[in-house]
Amino acid sequence: MEFDGGFTAGWMRRFAASAEATRAELTALDQQVGDGDFGINLTTGLSSVVAALDALPVPSGQWPAAAPLEAAAGVFLDDVGGTSGPLFGLVLQELAVAAADVGPRLTTAALTAGTAAGLAAVQRVGEAVPGDKTLVDALTPAVERLQRSGAQAPPGCALRAAADGAWEGVLRTARLRARRGRASYLGDRAVGVPDPGAVGVGLLFASAGRPVAS
Ligand code: ADP
Ligand code: MG
Ligand code: MG
Repeated sequence: MEFDGGFTAGWMRRFAASAEATRAELTALDQQVGDGDFGINLTTGLSSVVAALDALPVPSGQWPAAAPLEAAAGVFLDDVGGTSGPLFGLVLQELAVAAADVGPRLTTAALTAGTAAGLAAVQRVGEAVPGDKTLVDALTPAVERLQRSGAQAPPGCALRAAADGAWEGVLRTARLRARRGRASYLGDRAVGVPDPGAVGVGLLFASAGRPVAS
């Protein structure tokens, strides 16, 4: 598989489809530990991303992997509401920057550097640390799995490992009391409910892989 712009555009489209399929659950989670808008914030943002991708000119030569990621980042940074919109924007932007640094095709090293830089940017802005019950709890193990995969691993394998790490992080958030975001107002009442933003990060990495053909 070529990890060029065709791959990253497909990744963003699959992320949009997964979020849409999960919207009711995301809404229910944010109703329990927040204000109920996360499912709408994420799916509205991603349908604008799909519209932006539809409008992107597809070059006749090789399509750089960074271009669709940049388009998606721009939508999240400029137009998506909630606390999570700009934070997803920062992750996508750092992925785009790292992809542009290595040329037209994504590498595992670029994915690792971009996700790590995205996590750092999220923490700079939101000041959450692991254990605060936020999307940082899914991003941190995703970065660890990418790092552990090693630069020689094919990007598809590394992304699958990142998704596994993110889902493990999501499950851990269920046991936590929140120290950041709206869930922090709830104290013990948020315990037992996974963090919706973390689920969004799980969906992002899980959407990178193509569905297995039957
Ligand atoms: P809002 O609370 O503004 O309605 P959203 O519903 O869009 O925001 O997003 C909620 C998610 O944002 C939470 O589930 C959590 O993962 C994430 N979040 C909230 N505050 C922070 C923070 N300080 N750092 C990182 N992520 C955060
Ligand atoms: Mg909300
Ligand atoms: Mg809100």
